[in-house]
Amino acid sequence: MTERTPVLIVGAGPVGLALAGDLGWRGVPCTLIEKTAGVVEHPKMDLIGVRTMEFCRRWGIADWVRDAPYPGDYPQDYIWLTSLTGFELGREPFPGRAFEACPPQSPQKRERVPQDMFDPIIKRFATSFDHVDLQNNTELVSFEEKSERVRATVRDVLTGETRTIEADYLVGTDGGASTVREQLGIGMSGTPALTYTTNVIFRCPNFPSLHDKGLGYRFIFIGPEGTWLTIVAINGGDRFRMSIVGTPDKVTHSEDDIRAALRRAMGKDFDYEILSVLRWVRRELVADRYGTDRVFLAGDSVHLTSPTGALGMNTGMQDAVDLGWKLEAVIRGWGGANLLKTYEIERKPVAIRNVSASTKNLKRMLEPRNRKPPPEIFEPGPQGDAARKAYGEWYTELMRHEWFMNGYHLGYRYDGSPIVWPDGTPAPPLEGTTYTQIARPGARAPHVWLPDGRSTLDLYGRAFVLLRLSSNAPAAGGLQRAAAEAGVPLAVVTLDLPEVLKAYERRMVLVRPDGHVAWRDDAEPQDARAVIDCVRGARPLAGAGRADLEVAS
Ligand SMILES: Cc1cc2nc3c(=O)[nH]c(=O)nc-3n(C[C@H](O)[C@H](O)[C@H](O)COP(=O)(O)OP(=O)(O)OC[C@H]3O[C@@H](n4cnc5c(N)ncnc54)[C@H](O)[C@@H]3O)c2cc1C
Repeated sequence: MTERTPVLIVGAGPVGLALAGDLGWRGVPCTLIEKTAGVVEHPKMDLIGVRTMEFCRRWGIADWVRDAPYPGDYPQDYIWLTSLTGFELGREPFPGRAFEACPPQSPQKRERVPQDMFDPIIKRFATSFDHVDLQNNTELVSFEEKSERVRATVRDVLTGETRTIEADYLVGTDGGASTVREQLGIGMSGTPALTYTTNVIFRCPNFPSLHDKGLGYRFIFIGPEGTWLTIVAINGGDRFRMSIVGTPDKVTHSEDDIRAALRRAMGKDFDYEILSVLRWVRRELVADRYGTDRVFLAGDSVHLTSPTGALGMNTGMQDAVDLGWKLEAVIRGWGGANLLKTYEIERKPVAIRNVSASTKNLKRMLEPRNRKPPPEIFEPGPQGDAARKAYGEWYTELMRHEWFMNGYHLGYRYDGSPIVWPDGTPAPPLEGTTYTQIARPGARAPHVWLPDGRSTLDLYGRAFVLLRLSSNAPAAGGLQRAAAEAGVPLAVVTLDLPEVLKAYERRMVLVRPDGHVAWRDDAEPQDARAVIDCVRGARPLAGAGRADLEVAS
């Protein structure tokens, strides 16, 4: 028998799980297939960015992430050094995640929760909905896109049996080697190989007692040849990930190389257990297209980035959230004919910006390979101390671009998107290390605390929300009628709070289900139906302001 589902999601990594969870939360049935047994063997990501945490808050699972077993008091310092028993060159101190404050622009903060803790959380969320069907050990073999539906052939990897699943839409969240992208014949552009890196996860319960550098999250090792290694504390306890960053003349590392690197990093022999080794190529690539009419791609299947900046999965989570409400809209019938086309228009420029920023971070981390450290920094004594101070201060300043990135995590915008109604104000420059909240159409709607303890962000998610931001704001009857005629779910919220009006700058602001501003004005629009048709993707795309789309350098 052929199974049917509105949305077939291929790949249950964090992005596929998030899309399934978002659809489930919206009441949209979906099937999620995963070719493995669904166990994270080698955790890659471990920083849950602040925007991803805002999504988790929307879904009601922020405290699940907060309560993950990564110890809250484990300091998150970044430290650069010659070896663990050698010299420290500098550090950027950060408290344990339990003690880090939320940035003023958000009700949430980033969290350090590695993938083998985070994926089970997001899986628990997705599978909490009866209408989300997760099928492990199920591999997509091929698919055929018709005008009305997609027919997928899937294989049970344990028995080898194949069967057919029919879906209205198929989404490939199947990672960097995406079968879906490959079968669509979509290429990727950028730099296919930035570095060849060997990741080694090792267990060493007494690691902190073996050296005098204290607890920290990431240790960056600098030798006479420049940056050669990093070690991160992946569970704030006994497990660590060493990454040997290859050089043009040495791209793979044998077990002897791995053991020699651990010895050199510690500055002496020590006991440890190697748990897993992953050889990977760091890339800067973005897919040329994000899909077709009924087949879409999200996450690593469309963008591959250096993890320097934590913009891999976190960018993919934004993809999932952008796609989730649009799929709901077309499945429920209120989404316009062009709504799904705006997925690529909105998300691809963000990916291009993020992968490029991540490569710049990588180049900064490796800059000591170009600006070689003076030999004195490896020698004891006052001359060495002075050299270490000067070199360390230079590196500390350089690396701040990576440690402070809310301009990327929160500041991405959909300026010029055809489903955003411009308000005529000029677009301020995109930010990197800093982030200023704005409510200009296309931007993430600002966070402001409300008197009852909620955030303005808690108002958004399920429907469009029309904010009326003063007692004398127009009644907005025209927009409400137009939304009702088009079947667009719209909630009206009246707030007479000067601080909200100050942040949103207009008396009426229309916020999309993903929490981005779609339209704002002080007066009712003359043609309310035109605004509603614009934001639901029912107007032609041509000439709809795409030229404004910001693809930042
Ligand atoms: C060392 C390292 C550190 C990182 N740190 C961070 C970080 O701190 N923060 C961050 O945001 N990102 C980080 N990243 C990047 C992050 O890990 C990835 O961006 C993220 O895992 C991508 O998620 P995904 O769901 O798109 O793809 P994946 O995690 O690759 O998942 C794809 C899934 O699809 C399945 N699949 C593939 N083909 C099929 C098929 N034909 N049928 C069925 N299933 C299939 C796979 O088995 C897999 O489970 C890091 C990456 C590395 C390498």
